[in-house]
Amino acid sequence: MSATASLAAPRPAFDAARVRRDFPILEQRVNGRPLVYLDSAASGQRPLPVLRAVERYETHCHANVHRGVHALSQAATEAFEGARERVRRFINAASVREIVFVRGTTEAINLVAQSFGRPRLAPGEEILITALEHHANIVPWQMVCEQTGATLKVAPIDRRGELVLDRFLELLSPRTRVVAVAQVSNALGTVLPVKQITDAAHARGAVVLIDGAQAIPHSRIDVRELGCDFYAFSGHKLYGPTGIGVLYGREELLAAMPPWQGGGDMIRTVSFEKTTYNDLPWKFEAGTPNISGAVGLAAAMDYVKDLGLAAIAGHEQRLLELATAGLARIAGIRIIGTAVRKASVLSFTMEGCHPHDLGTILDAEGVAIRTGHHCAMPVMTFFDIPATARASFGCYNTEEDVEALLAALAKAREVFG
Ligand code: PLP
Repeated sequence: MSATASLAAPRPAFDAARVRRDFPILEQRVNGRPLVYLDSAASGQRPLPVLRAVERYETHCHANVHRGVHALSQAATEAFEGARERVRRFINAASVREIVFVRGTTEAINLVAQSFGRPRLAPGEEILITALEHHANIVPWQMVCEQTGATLKVAPIDRRGELVLDRFLELLSPRTRVVAVAQVSNALGTVLPVKQITDAAHARGAVVLIDGAQAIPHSRIDVRELGCDFYAFSGHKLYGPTGIGVLYGREELLAAMPPWQGGGDMIRTVSFEKTTYNDLPWKFEAGTPNISGAVGLAAAMDYVKDLGLAAIAGHEQRLLELATAGLARIAGIRIIGTAVRKASVLSFTMEGCHPHDLGTILDAEGVAIRTGHHCAMPVMTFFDIPATARASFGCYNTEEDVEALLAALAKAREVFG
């Protein structure tokens, strides 16, 4: 560190109470109690700058994009394509041609499975995933295996919920054509070594897709540094709107892939004899896109950049540690997912109490957690449980929120003996 840097004033602590004021939805009371929102892994809330950007667009700029010469259509096109450039910068892609707007992570993975996988895969070839994937990164690959005769291979996890890397590396073979892994598990919080996975997969000639749905709100993503071929994420996990997400794909790969949906905007010329397709990225964006969603997503990216992703992550880690320590003091609680590197997702069960009942009791206290299999049924099967309760933290959560969670759990413990 340079002398100047070491003399610099320390950065002020992350002020979650101030951040919280940007999220009007959090001001309400639920069941007569102040809302404690601990379900950001399912969907983040939106801050005022996002709400205002969407309102501004809808109030002043809306028209259909790309096709109009009139002023409003040009304003809408500028807003939409401007959002694409901001996404490119946010993940450091080389070109806007590599940024495809989709509905979300699910659609992005289906696009790659159908457009990259389906035409290329053959019987005897393999797709390698891990045992902690969300259904969105399992089912599209199962479907493409049914269509092509390829085989789905699954690298195991251990009792902590960590990927068994040695087994993963053993399963990588010259037959592996696609590796598709989550960067962060939504059910367990585990952070996967995606850079190492990507390098190993590339050494075997496989193409790598990273499901970044749970990573994007907690870490700075640089797709070129990661070296991945595809990266998928959803706007609503990053404090942006629902119905908008991004597929990043290396240009060379996207250019060689056929379109996956046909219709307006993805074409250059249409005749009954022959249709030619549009340039990247529009070749993959058939139909009128979610324009205000893209505008809102870009505003959300600016918002988290202003707060500082490292500062957000540091704050969330403190909350995770506090909550983990607190849970350990409550009898009968078992934490599911104890990986060394975790994002701010805390899954657990309480002995003698079904997670759904726990969720209902907590809701009566104004504490919103998620209960169920979290779209990761194989993870539940691995741990031999039907479901978990899951608290997840975002930039607006405070230590008081963690205390409210622990108090509500203590109350549930009394109810269930
Ligand atoms: N992948 C992971 C790891 C997720 O957590 C989620 C959503 O919870 C998804 C994929 C699917 O995201 P979406 O429903 O926004 O398409």
